[in-house]
Amino acid sequence: MQEPSRPVSSTPADAQNTPRKRRPPRRVEVSRVQVLSPAMRRITLTGAELQGFEVNDPASYMKLIFPEPGQTEPVRPLPDGPRATSMRTYTPLAVRPEAGEVDVDFVLHGEGPASTWAAQAQTGQVLFLMGPGPGYKLDLQAAEHWLIGDDSALPAFETILAGLPATARVHVLMEVADAAEERALHSPAQLTTEWVVRGADKQRAGLALAQALRQGSAPSAESRVYLACEAAAMRRIRELLTGELGLPRSQIVGRGYWKLGAVNHPDHDYGEDA
Ligand SMILES: Cc1cc2nc3c(=O)[nH]c(=O)nc-3n(C[C@H](O)[C@H](O)[C@H](O)COP(=O)(O)OP(=O)(O)OC[C@H]3O[C@@H](n4cnc5c(N)ncnc54)[C@H](O)[C@@H]3O)c2cc1C
Repeated sequence: MQEPSRPVSSTPADAQNTPRKRRPPRRVEVSRVQVLSPAMRRITLTGAELQGFEVNDPASYMKLIFPEPGQTEPVRPLPDGPRATSMRTYTPLAVRPEAGEVDVDFVLHGEGPASTWAAQAQTGQVLFLMGPGPGYKLDLQAAEHWLIGDDSALPAFETILAGLPATARVHVLMEVADAAEERALHSPAQLTTEWVVRGADKQRAGLALAQALRQGSAPSAESRVYLACEAAAMRRIRELLTGELGLPRSQIVGRGYWKLGAVNHPDHDYGEDA
């Protein structure tokens, strides 16, 4: 049976015991659905309530609230009410304030309120959106960046790629369930992309990433690394990078984006226990 995940490492805000201020939920409607690949949908959300929704850093996140079973649209959450059980974490891929639009890329991984909803999404359907939450502070002076992760982090990687300067080199190492998920990525920086295939078995999450790092090229001590994938895989790869490959911990930002067998993995799993 699936169990809700528990927070696994604390944010600076948690550490200071500062209560998180919840921003009011914004009602949004689906205005466009694009099929990017068999298991990736790009969904444009739009609405007057998106006014003032600003994202400052790449790899930021937001919360989306999906309909519960039996609902055609989710109920607007009350300011101090309980958290919706069908709330999940997604990356604002592109925000167009003038049009009141935000694009979100959804991995169709199987069952789950978000993935199931995205697989059937149609224009006019309603969600609630909250956030944004903080993202990744880019080191614009760094000569080399590595983005290592799985398809759930591909939208975050695209926002990072868009923010890098032409002087930087960036290597993307991306694990997908099937080779049909591979597509062209773009950046002003000097980009190389390496796709590795996991296959349908989720238990194999991260194995292809680790193999590629052991057998192919890998980041050096000077590289800045953003590592985001399944939570246990993220920890194993963090250990591989700091142990076998000798990278300083300070060069690596880790994020568990989902957790095998757990629903709604928290948005602040940094894996610093690894
Ligand atoms: C900061 C942040 C940003 C994120 N941005 C995105 C994004 O832009 N696009 C995106 O698609 N995802 C993104 N994710 C991941 C997304 O939040 C999770 O995949 C989420 O669990 C999906 O919810 P669900 O309702 O579909 O499944 P849940 O109800 O949470 O889980 C149901 C089952 O599916 C499994 N599962 C969940 N996600 C995946 C997956 N990706 N692959 C394989 N199995 C999975 C779980 O282990 C569980 O067994 C992000 C996560 C974080 C923390």
